[in-house]
Amino acid sequence: MISYQDVLDAQKRISPYVLRTPLLRVPALDPILGCEVYIKSEALQFTGSFKLRGATNCMLSLSDEQRRNGVVCGSSGNHAQGVACAAQRLGVSAVIVMPLGSNPVKIEGVKSFGGTVELYGERPSDKEVRVAELVKEGRCEIHPYDNDYVRAGQGTIGLEILEDQPEIDAVVVPVGGGGLISGIATAVKAIRPQAKMIGVEPEGAPRYTESYRQGKLVWLEKTDTIADGTRTDHANANSFELIRQRVDSLATVSDDAIRQAMKLIVSKAKIVAEPSSSMGIGAVLQGKLHFDASQKVCFVISGGNNDLNLLADVIRG
Ligand SMILES: *Cc1c(COP(=O)(O)O)cnc(C)c1O
Repeated sequence: MISYQDVLDAQKRISPYVLRTPLLRVPALDPILGCEVYIKSEALQFTGSFKLRGATNCMLSLSDEQRRNGVVCGSSGNHAQGVACAAQRLGVSAVIVMPLGSNPVKIEGVKSFGGTVELYGERPSDKEVRVAELVKEGRCEIHPYDNDYVRAGQGTIGLEILEDQPEIDAVVVPVGGGGLISGIATAVKAIRPQAKMIGVEPEGAPRYTESYRQGKLVWLEKTDTIADGTRTDHANANSFELIRQRVDSLATVSDDAIRQAMKLIVSKAKIVAEPSSSMGIGAVLQGKLHFDASQKVCFVISGGNNDLNLLADVIRG
């Protein structure tokens, strides 16, 4: 289980390589969301999402020999670009395994950072087979969330939020595999234990909400959500334990509310957020989260890598 010190170490390691993103105060959203609104915008991060933080921390923690052997990850989304970008910056060879039929824009994104793309399998879980082969050949796997260096790297967001607003009352974070929230909660609870940590999952992929309800780790038979960065179909044991200890509550949000939130964030905060990162604000719009007007609430906008057709559709809708 990661500690506060792990997050501090990550911050020291990665700060030359990542953007220290702004914590924006957005008064225009106060009357709509019913609290004092802050946005931590990782849409502005290099590669367009926070995944660069964890990938960079993990790669900087490898031995010289591991770095010479290169890295591998299975991802068709933001983690793929984070790993490719970090690898290029550090001179490490990276193979990114993506499912056949992946979005050509995302494939090009990875290639633009010099990553080698391998297309393998139809189903999302097929890529694990190829990743395992490449690990046998000597490459080190950079997992998108079940890796303590990755978690600690994502946690640096929590340190920055409290550096910029030490009196924050609540931090609202989107949840996929749970790496992001477990890192941020580790930092926030160490510095300001009275601040509430709140996770939000899609209604169509409620892994951790269901795991709480059933009292065991769940695998969902199917997931169905517009929030493609948080479509993971199962709860992870290590993330669940961290969430149990350091997160105060979880909520779920509908696709409809996510769309409303994306539109609102563009018009009031002037930020282009992708669906996964709009879940916290969506949950407030849907009446799933309530704050009072005096509370300082930080919404973590985790990324801004949109399919432009979807974005246009959301804004028109
Ligand atoms: C990966 C991702 C998430 C979820 O992060 P986890 O660590 O998997 O919980 C949320 N938003 C965006 C934009 C992402 O890319």
